[in-house]
Amino acid sequence: MTTTAPTAEKHPWMDEDLAAVSELARKFFEKEVTPHTERFVQQGYPDRDVYRKAGDLGLLGMSIPEEYSGGGGTFAHEIVLFTEQVRACESSLQLGVHTGVVLHYLLAYAGEDQKRRWLPKLTSGEWVGAIAMTEPGAGSDLQGITTRAVRDGDHYLVSGAKTFISNGHNCDLVIIAAKTDPSKGAAGVSLIVAEVSDETPGFERGRILDKIGQKGQDTTELFFDNLKVPAQHLLGASEGLGFYQLMEQLPQERLIAAAAAVASMELAVEVTTEYTKTRMAFGKPLFALQNTRFELAHCASVAQIGRVFLDDCIAKHLRGELDVATAAMAKYWLTEQQCDVATRCLQLFGGYGYTMEYPIAKIFTDSRIQKIYAGANEVMKELIARSL
Ligand SMILES: Cc1cc2nc3c(=O)[nH]c(=O)nc-3n(C[C@H](O)[C@H](O)[C@H](O)COP(=O)(O)OP(=O)(O)OC[C@H]3O[C@@H](n4cnc5c(N)ncnc54)[C@H](O)[C@@H]3O)c2cc1C
Repeated sequence: MTTTAPTAEKHPWMDEDLAAVSELARKFFEKEVTPHTERFVQQGYPDRDVYRKAGDLGLLGMSIPEEYSGGGGTFAHEIVLFTEQVRACESSLQLGVHTGVVLHYLLAYAGEDQKRRWLPKLTSGEWVGAIAMTEPGAGSDLQGITTRAVRDGDHYLVSGAKTFISNGHNCDLVIIAAKTDPSKGAAGVSLIVAEVSDETPGFERGRILDKIGQKGQDTTELFFDNLKVPAQHLLGASEGLGFYQLMEQLPQERLIAAAAAVASMELAVEVTTEYTKTRMAFGKPLFALQNTRFELAHCASVAQIGRVFLDDCIAKHLRGELDVATAAMAKYWLTEQQCDVATRCLQLFGGYGYTMEYPIAKIFTDSRIQKIYAGANEVMKELIARSL
């Protein structure tokens, strides 16, 4: 489905160029993605060539410098893309991870030769990117990961298991968080980039996980058994910088979750307002009932307040001033509001809200993960508290 959120054109950071990107992205989802979403949901992953189509339109790596085949824009361009995806009620492509996260780790920490090799492949959509931090035994507590990378001449041998990896089924490049020195805790964590395919020795894709939402998105397990990775695929100048790199990049990942949260609230209010104005009960539209009006007034207020906070965070990020605690506040508070708004709006649909025939059901099921990934909200509160 396609909608235009009422506040879309009001962001203080929006300009004509971004409005054009917004339009381009909207058409991309309308034409290339949503007609196939049902199939993606059935198979559990999006077709790979959709990434290629996004790349052909210049929608991947819009904030990556042109010299690396990016769009030369700012992170606002990426935010516009993620916003349009939510507005299209689409969650099969994990664009946040591919273009909002993976590309930026490579840009920030990869060597020059690696950047020139990897970034064009990812901005064109020829390759799909993933980042593998979480393990069956360690999620929030990343210091507890046990995946090992052992130096062996010019290579690392990587062994271990990861889970919940977005784009895991489709990925060609995966950034692996591994221990290069298990005796050192956080200082023993490094990020290592592996180029992978189904034929790569020592690499295996596990099952696509059966989630309650985002069902068209491939979230999988990944297994490494002495996977041979060239030593120059280490991100950063030396081993042990992985934790620092994660801490540096996570605020941007959290901003992506926050932007999706606001777009989701705006969409929920919009589709619910539309529905309640047409659904009749007791001789009048549901919208005429005081409870409906008050619920929607509440949700619209929360969405608008959220939008103002988000816009401030985006402006700060564009100036390079978004601090860890504020990013955590945005991720925590906005995703909590997103789930609350989705629950209230679904209730106004009655039984129809519980069927996948109406977009509110997808908005509801897609929302729930937002409080968990990109750092669980309890961890966000801990980060906020540390800054007080
Ligand atoms: C759909 C999906 C996509 C994902 N994509 C990726 C991906 O691409 N790459 C990747 O690496 N990971 C990914 N993840 C993993 C995700 O980041 C983790 O699930 C998340 O970090 C939580 O880790 P956990 O599941 O191990 O939960 P746990 O860490 O076991 O936490 C369980 C509960 O305990 C709470 N808790 C933990 N520590 C504390 C604390 N210190 N104080 C208070 N409460 C605490 C948590 O908040 C949570 O409520 C994805 C997960 C899902 C479901």
